[in-house]
Amino acid sequence: MKVEHIGIAVKNVDSAIKIYEKLLNTKCYKTENVENEHVLTAFFRTGDSKVELLEATSSDSAIAKFINKRGEGLHHIAFEVDNIEQEMKRLENEGFRLLNNRPVKGADNKLVAFIHPKDNHGVLIELCQAAE
Ligand code: ZN
Repeated sequence: MKVEHIGIAVKNVDSAIKIYEKLLNTKCYKTENVENEHVLTAFFRTGDSKVELLEATSSDSAIAKFINKRGEGLHHIAFEVDNIEQEMKRLENEGFRLLNNRPVKGADNKLVAFIHPKDNHGVLIELCQAAE
């Protein structure tokens, strides 16, 4: 599985964009408000992978809860899969706990599902597949 992107939780996506543009020496190529996940996202290309910055747009958002508990920082690693439903079934059979029963619409025209961080030594894993 290829690392599609790395997700970083930030308090303010606009100020984080400025920092990451300097760090990566590339412009943010897309921002997107993912309403169903209550997050504002910003994307950078880094070789074959991407960096995704995430800011909560509601206190109910998983990003708001994460920042309250652990502060800003690395939030998830996303792996690209060809068939997300098949991969979810495979991982469930291997004993991983999925945080979604079915794939949900994520940012950047992707179908996504998350695996509980406790099952991956503390790292939240996202599976993603390009949406049709
Ligand atoms: Zn992501």
